Amino acid sequence: MYYCLECAQIHDRGYNENELVFNSGFFTSKGVIYPAGLCREQQVKQLQNDALDDHLTAL
Ligand SMILES: [Zn+2]
Repeated sequence: MYYCLECAQIHDRGYNENELVFNSGFFTSKGVIYPAGLCREQQVKQLQNDALDDHLTAL
């Protein structure tokens, strides 16, 4: 489990294959300490959109 800074919520490890969990930086929720991380879901979506744009431009 880690606290996703992107979504501002707790994710399970493996939520996204591109996730990045920091070794420094922690978030405490209800007395439980979670490492901070990024699931990079938005970043992946952005990359996919960019790829789609490139494809459309090439048509
Ligand atoms: Zn997230």
